[in-house]
Amino acid sequence: MIPPLRKKDISKVNFPLYVPQIDVADKGSWFWREGIEMPMIFVPLWQLVLNNRLLSQASSKGLHDFLGFNGKILLSTVMPDELIDKLTKDDYFKLINDLKPDATMVPDNYTYTDAPLYQSWSQTVRLISFANDFLDLEIKLIGLIKGANLRQIYFSLRREVEMNYISFVMPARELFKQGLLNEILPHVLIILKKLCRASGKNPEILIYGIGRKLGYKEVSYSNLSWYLEAKHGLYYKEGELNDMRNEKIRFKECYCEVCRGTMPQDLIDLWIKDPKSCKRMLTLHNLLEWKRGRWAGGH
Ligand SMILES: [Zn+2]
Repeated sequence: MIPPLRKKDISKVNFPLYVPQIDVADKGSWFWREGIEMPMIFVPLWQLVLNNRLLSQASSKGLHDFLGFNGKILLSTVMPDELIDKLTKDDYFKLINDLKPDATMVPDNYTYTDAPLYQSWSQTVRLISFANDFLDLEIKLIGLIKGANLRQIYFSLRREVEMNYISFVMPARELFKQGLLNEILPHVLIILKKLCRASGKNPEILIYGIGRKLGYKEVSYSNLSWYLEAKHGLYYKEGELNDMRNEKIRFKECYCEVCRGTMPQDLIDLWIKDPKSCKRMLTLHNLLEWKRGRWAGGH
């Protein structure tokens, strides 16, 4: 059953175009230590929950001191299903009070398009109920856009908007893999705007967990792709992920603050001589390329 829903003034997170995710256990992804500035990061809660040593360090200091990051820290609750089932409201509240992020997503759920609908409906009700509980937290809150179909997405969004949620994350990896994201997203954008407009508000949406931009002007993105893809030698340019040997980009100089006129061919040469610094450059280039604004050709 859905509990009686409350309301609270929830202010916007004000997502920039891109919010990188980091890997808490891998300092190679702690880009601010390389002098690159970004206003916000997402820290995946599951990485801490599954690693006692990291969790006790981060809990005793709080995430800001633990990471040494001065921007805003957003907690991501997107996690493996087994953990979703395990964590209670009290667990979340303790974790959040100890870790002290600047904002948190409401707890994730699982809504598979190919599972019986009673499962995704009960998960949808659970999402709403958690979003209601989370109103007791003192930090900024981020609603989730989830559902196995548009009815479920509408059902949960309507209630989240009633509770005054205004910043939303859409975990999109599964939908993207199934080829459903481009079908669903335009509807989601329309639904959410309509729901918010009734109360005179303008929502913000961030697409979470996919490694490419989709061409919608009004959405932000978050992923760890900037880091993971560089490990495989892949190079972002104008919204596309390229093999560095691709003739289209191979001899095009990049003037980001890391490359400073270097072209992919130079990185290929460097990869052979000094793979470690090559990967570092490629990683930071990919991060800056994601940050660099909206590419032409979008709708
Ligand atoms: Zn570059």
